Amino acid sequence: MEKKVRVRYAPSPTGFLHIGGARSALFNYLFAKKYNGDIIFRVEDTDIERNVEGGEQSQYNDLRWLGIIPDESPYEPKEYGPYRQMERLDIYRKYAQKLVDEGHAYYCYCTSEELEMRKEEQLNNGVRATKYDRKCLNLSKEQEEAYIKEGRKPCIRIKLKDHQKLEFNDLVRGPVSFTSDDLGGDFVIMKSNGIPTYNFAVVVDDHLMNITHVLRGEEHLSNTPKQLAIYQMLGWDAPTFGHMTIIINKNGKKLSKRDNNILQFMSQYRELGYLPEAIVNYILLLGWTPETNQEIFSMEEAKKEFDPSRLSTSPSMFDQQKMNWTNGQYINKLTDEEYLEFIRPQMGKVMDLSKYDDQTLLEIANLYKEEITYGAEIIEPLNSILNPKEVTDENDLAMLNLDSTPIAFEAFVKELESIEEVTPETIKQAFKNVASSTGVKGKNLFMPIRLKLTGVSHGIELVNIIKILGKEEVVNRLKK
Ligand code: GLU
Repeated sequence: MEKKVRVRYAPSPTGFLHIGGARSALFNYLFAKKYNGDIIFRVEDTDIERNVEGGEQSQYNDLRWLGIIPDESPYEPKEYGPYRQMERLDIYRKYAQKLVDEGHAYYCYCTSEELEMRKEEQLNNGVRATKYDRKCLNLSKEQEEAYIKEGRKPCIRIKLKDHQKLEFNDLVRGPVSFTSDDLGGDFVIMKSNGIPTYNFAVVVDDHLMNITHVLRGEEHLSNTPKQLAIYQMLGWDAPTFGHMTIIINKNGKKLSKRDNNILQFMSQYRELGYLPEAIVNYILLLGWTPETNQEIFSMEEAKKEFDPSRLSTSPSMFDQQKMNWTNGQYINKLTDEEYLEFIRPQMGKVMDLSKYDDQTLLEIANLYKEEITYGAEIIEPLNSILNPKEVTDENDLAMLNLDSTPIAFEAFVKELESIEEVTPETIKQAFKNVASSTGVKGKNLFMPIRLKLTGVSHGIELVNIIKILGKEEVVNRLKK
């Protein structure tokens, strides 16, 4: 029987979920679901100094927000737990000791200062690829005891074989081959503080958690031979690896978390009013190409269509505009109810929502539905009406200060006060009445009102401006 597919998304809680992480998680999730498998959320928290408060929880929440629901995690544990590496230290210790006992690893008592000094010497002697000089490889019992007496705390290093071929067939890039000589010498698997290194913990966990496929970023490609060496020493079969290409920005540079032109974190997307379905859709096409030229995919479609052999082998360019376009497509497809629920928090950032009923809010929101590409884009136009600029343009000032303006304002205010409901019809009628009672009409009537209300001579229909401001506020502004 074929083994059940099991994959993992294994973030280090050193930050919040960003585009690259979300993409890894998504591809793993789709891979698992395509083959009726499971996805595990594992927390690689061994770099204790770099862990950030709330990193794990927010990554987990953001994944769920995107619709990437782990089958196992610290929050839904099954028999493969614990799922946080810092809760598995005994397990790593056991396997590290096994490697020592079997002669595949050894205790090393060198201090970092000593290592640094000897590295310096190697460099001075013209060695370019410096590596650990195996000073501790064959220590006698007495030497070890002496070191321990000195108070030295050992780490454990793997004892690499010489010229060992370390090869695998990468899901994305095909056959990849390294040798043990490329690995920079006997690397540390357990640090002197009893915490495993990434390369060791990941092997132990992937094996014990029955992981069948490891899909991860290209930056881990050089770790894979190290992991393969450990698999071989422990006598375990390695999973199938696939390394996804990097994400680059418009200038062809690897996406950096410091790149300010690009929104990096899912929390930013959520805050600004992006729809998780749209993000998933965009990220799906960031490194994966469907067979047809279909551009819009639901998660369900993606699960069916996802084919790892179509993961791209060249870097994928993150295009914020395309992302926004995709999001706009999804906003447009929302029903009235969904749209209102989605946009309400954004509107709440500029207007006092308690002053409006849902119908009015929806009417206002709908004015912008087609043009916004993310929720927060509604803030600026609303704000320009709610908190208008002073009129400074000379022509506008002349228009605003026509002799007829005070009479027109006064008449319009009276009309407004008698209107029950602001609709295109009632407002049109009000203007007609003002025109016939005062003789002020056309541009001389509309433009001063618009300028007085919004500070500018262009924009959405007056009736909608009145809706946004509310009758009372319009009256106040015109009376001022
Ligand atoms: N914790 C690693 C990272 O965040 C996971 C690497 C892996 O998938 O093996 O990059």
